[in-house]
Amino acid sequence: MHIPDIIIAIDGYSSTGKSSFARLIADEFGFLYLDSGALYRGVTLYAIENGLVSASDGIDVPALEKALATLDLHFEGRGSHCRTFMGDRCIEKDIRTLAVSGKVSPVAALPQVRDYVDRRLRELGKDKRVVLDGRDIGTTVFPDAELKIFMVADVDVRAMRRAAEMQAKGEDVSVGEVRRNLQERDYIDSHRKTSPLAKAPDAIILDNSRMTLQDQMIWLKDIVAGRFNTDVRD
Ligand code: C5P
Repeated sequence: MHIPDIIIAIDGYSSTGKSSFARLIADEFGFLYLDSGALYRGVTLYAIENGLVSASDGIDVPALEKALATLDLHFEGRGSHCRTFMGDRCIEKDIRTLAVSGKVSPVAALPQVRDYVDRRLRELGKDKRVVLDGRDIGTTVFPDAELKIFMVADVDVRAMRRAAEMQAKGEDVSVGEVRRNLQERDYIDSHRKTSPLAKAPDAIILDNSRMTLQDQMIWLKDIVAGRFNTDVRD
């Protein structure tokens, strides 16, 4: 199975299953998976733990900007087994809590933070054979990506999937709470000034409300086979 040297950019609304799909693609195609949301979540975790974000005063932007100069967020592991680290601390679990989800969109709206994340992603993706997921990968980070996918799904399906995922990890959340957080993040992400969530004109829409991961993989392989004139089907 020959997969060309391409960048696959996956964007879309919160909890549409972008990262599960991207991980599967990384495994099947032998690509590196880059989770851009994990970097935004890592910056947010740092801000929360260091008292740079509070309900009353908002975000201490000058202090955060200063911290970004030395903040070491990176991924370890190959293929889809990419785990997020802050220095030598694995933060994979800490960045997925509702506390971080509740603050990440305002933090990610800051141009300084976007610049920090974009620089890391471009460096990691410069040799291609990567699949990235996020909100602005196809529009801003890699506007020349050879394949762009924009994922959408019914909001109730998304809330139920994400709540089940969090509950399985032991977090005490309700579907309603998760649904509100998704809708709030979608709104902030689509309305911010810098690199808002948007479908790139050349992105293909994938609505996976009623599709399994395997259905999505079959859909993708058909597209790759047709577009790059290569046989990726088993
Ligand atoms: O993908 P995930 O839900 O983990 O992303 C967390 C948050 O990070 C999003 O709600 C969004 O605010 C921000 N984000 C972004 N641009 C990206 C990826 C994530 O603004 N490329």
